[in-house]
Amino acid sequence: MSNTPVNKRSAAAPLAPALHPSLQLAEETPTDAYAGLVREQLALLGEDPQREGLLKTPERVAKAMGFMTRGYSMTLSDVVGDALFEEQHENMVMVRDIELYSLCEHHLLPFFGKAHIAYIPNSRIVGLSKLPRIVDMFARRLQVQERLTEQVAKAIEEVLQPRGVGVVIEAFHMCMMMRGVEKQNSRTITSALRGVFRDDGKTRDEFLRLAYASHH
Ligand SMILES: [Zn+2]
Repeated sequence: MSNTPVNKRSAAAPLAPALHPSLQLAEETPTDAYAGLVREQLALLGEDPQREGLLKTPERVAKAMGFMTRGYSMTLSDVVGDALFEEQHENMVMVRDIELYSLCEHHLLPFFGKAHIAYIPNSRIVGLSKLPRIVDMFARRLQVQERLTEQVAKAIEEVLQPRGVGVVIEAFHMCMMMRGVEKQNSRTITSALRGVFRDDGKTRDEFLRLAYASHH
């Protein structure tokens, strides 16, 4: 089960139509296979998968998991499209408070929070709405927050070849909140700094000050 994500299999199906992955799932057999596993899982938890409230749960879970891991079937060029523009802007471009929802790969439990992204262009900018979509493309996979942060930074570097890029992600992890240490209010913060954001103290400070502006 762990090495056959629902999306990957449906994306690889030979005659799969070019639909949104969540639409594909509805008519693909991997969904049924996944639902079967969920049914077993319910039984192993001591539940009765045949009782009314749970009857459709396996199919719902299969669809939800497909949706929550749809990032596997997205590529950077699909996401960015042609939203790249030549522009002589040389100051920091920043988008703050990008909502993100992901699943931790250790427990398959959600982690969620915000991403703050900034870059300093090198004669090329990207449509601002693309930055949240890049976050989504990587967040909608099984993740660890550290890797997610790096992947977003690397993707922006790849697409824009900017003078520098900075990414900060702050997130709450359900696996910490609901189990284990049960720390309800601890937020995990990760950052990835590249180019001038790593090498130039003033740029880094400006970015981090803006990224953390909502906190004290
Ligand atoms: Zn976890």
